[in-house]
Amino acid sequence: MPHRVVDFFRSPNDSIHNIKASVQRRSNPSSRSASRERPTRHSSPASSVFEAAVDHLQSQIYAAPPVKMAEPPKEKQKDTHSHHRLSFPSLHLGGSKSSKDQQVNPYASLDWKIESPPAVMHGEPENSTGALVSGQLLLDVKEDDFEVENFTGKLEIHVIHKRPFTSHCHNCANQTTEVKTWTFLSEPTILSKRIHEFPFSVLLDGHLPASTDNPLVTIRYDFSAEVTPRNGPVIKLAKNIDVKRSVQVPEQPHHSIRIFPPTNIAASVHFSQVIHPISTNTFNLRLDGIVKHNVDAKSVEYWKLKRLSWKLEENMVTVAPACEKHSPKDPETGLPTKKGLKRTDARTIAHADMHSGWKSDYSPSGCIEMEIQCALPPNAKAACDLKGEDGTEVTHQLVVEMVVVQEYAPTAHPKHITPTGVARILRMHFGVVITERAGLGVSWDNEAPPIYQDVPPSPPSYSCDIPYESVEDLTLSPGADEATR
Ligand SMILES: [Zn+2]
Repeated sequence: MPHRVVDFFRSPNDSIHNIKASVQRRSNPSSRSASRERPTRHSSPASSVFEAAVDHLQSQIYAAPPVKMAEPPKEKQKDTHSHHRLSFPSLHLGGSKSSKDQQVNPYASLDWKIESPPAVMHGEPENSTGALVSGQLLLDVKEDDFEVENFTGKLEIHVIHKRPFTSHCHNCANQTTEVKTWTFLSEPTILSKRIHEFPFSVLLDGHLPASTDNPLVTIRYDFSAEVTPRNGPVIKLAKNIDVKRSVQVPEQPHHSIRIFPPTNIAASVHFSQVIHPISTNTFNLRLDGIVKHNVDAKSVEYWKLKRLSWKLEENMVTVAPACEKHSPKDPETGLPTKKGLKRTDARTIAHADMHSGWKSDYSPSGCIEMEIQCALPPNAKAACDLKGEDGTEVTHQLVVEMVVVQEYAPTAHPKHITPTGVARILRMHFGVVITERAGLGVSWDNEAPPIYQDVPPSPPSYSCDIPYESVEDLTLSPGADEATR
């Protein structure tokens, strides 16, 4: 089979679908009939980036053994609009099946197998290289001569507004953006009785939003595939891909100094600006300038810390767009104009009040020191920071409030401390980023695939999959040339 090897050499310039298809043909001769139909692609704006990037991927996909994903539970969810956040950290793929298609085709069924690691975008949207998702669609044909008219798939970003432009309008509440479409079979094809594999892959561009489910908006990635057989009901598959974003946590805690005029108090804080949804973070605080000597009045003033409270605030903003029907019409053209309403929401996801737990030193150069544990419990259901191009934004800030009261004592009698009746609230705000743990994942472009320089000067030996005879055929047969043309 000379052209098979030719295919192999051509593969670096080819798409990932074709590479995978050709590899499967070699490794599994019985699957030829399925993969002979090369998937054709419909270029969408989001996929054009992928086209270029995928060339570098093919080697690493084979170099790194695919991570076997835990399959989502197969239970049927009655309402696809109610999105359930998965609580298993290792289970990144949620499944949901539409209840509409009750009819089950008895001759074939469709499932999928994700081969790529969990979809985590590493870094900020501006400089993230995105996440790669690849897998196989498994069409289990249960009898011979099963004729398929066509087989397509698509991936959409589905945004569900919980406070839509017009309440109770499905079109105002739901917006979908197509990320990629696939045509696995475009013309009538007869399939034999076995499981046919159709590879698919997509690079989710780094600027795309991560999946989220917060009080204002749900963003999810809906994958769907549809097989239209000649006979019987359409076979459908609907799944969700959980896309996460992980911003790198700096190794050193952030250091910040705040001053509180007219007092002499200065707060020096060390804290982690990047924190994870379920974690405890240490916040180190030191207050200086709490002791002041009034030489003229022969007295000493003290600021005593009576209470400290902290809270972690989550702020959400989104723009709920109007559907075509509910958009105001342009008076001149009569066409619907683009209109949206800004929706905001805020909540406290963690907080604590403290009345003790700090070290106070009221000597002339005294200070107050403390270490605060800011815990983000699982039931806080913190939404990760997010910034979408549609105006959706989730941000967090840590707010620390301290109540200090003033006391004074004559320099001659330092033990005779008297309150002055003056109290102040010292308030500090710190921007923090809540982000997913990177886990063991590495951005796909930072993985170490075998690179060009690693290839030895001599051609690789075909010791494993490809019989030596095939290579001989390639170099000697004139038919090989024709096959490449
Ligand atoms: Zn509407």
